[in-house]
Amino acid sequence: MKECSKIKAVVFDVGGVLQLNKKGKSKKGIQETFAKNFNLNLDDYLDSIDALYAKSMEGLISKKELLNSLSKNLNFSEKKIEEIYIKEYKKKFKENKELLKIAKKLKKRGFKISILSDQWSLSEEPLIPKSFHKIFSPVIVSCDVKVRKPNKKIYLLLLNKLKLSPGEILFVDNRAWNLSPAKYLGIKTILFLNNKLFRKQLKEFLIDL
Ligand SMILES: [Mg+2]
Repeated sequence: MKECSKIKAVVFDVGGVLQLNKKGKSKKGIQETFAKNFNLNLDDYLDSIDALYAKSMEGLISKKELLNSLSKNLNFSEKKIEEIYIKEYKKKFKENKELLKIAKKLKKRGFKISILSDQWSLSEEPLIPKSFHKIFSPVIVSCDVKVRKPNKKIYLLLLNKLKLSPGEILFVDNRAWNLSPAKYLGIKTILFLNNKLFRKQLKEFLIDL
């Protein structure tokens, strides 16, 4: 690095950042795909899962409790439900290989690289695979830490775990509303749109890869 960046850690969101939506043949959204798997129309499916999804996102119910309730609501076995979600999440998302390369480069350069992500128990495993845990640390996931973005508490937890001051952290998310609380705390932010633009945005923080 020619000039020394103040940034010491880069924190990545997962959905829409480290994992991208596959533009497959099917124009269907992921919720419609789930509904179809459970032989329901979209409204009925959403009604069956809404409250449970929200609770699981914030870790208010365990995965076991979630599967148990879903099994009753959807009339499928717990095992089958878990299989369907894992299969469909893996089908609908693809790892952002280019961004993962950038993250690894950052790590080589001495930056800490971390994950801050909202997931419910059924998307955590397919979208944050073991390979991510090998590269990123800490990996903070809403259903594990019992709080989700944009609640200020999850950003405070991040600061705590990274043991850095807010100005030394760069947070990357594809949703503006998730960046606001971070900015408020003094964390530097990048609104992620695509990999090409991200490289440019990194340069603004004196990070030239
Ligand atoms: Mg996202």
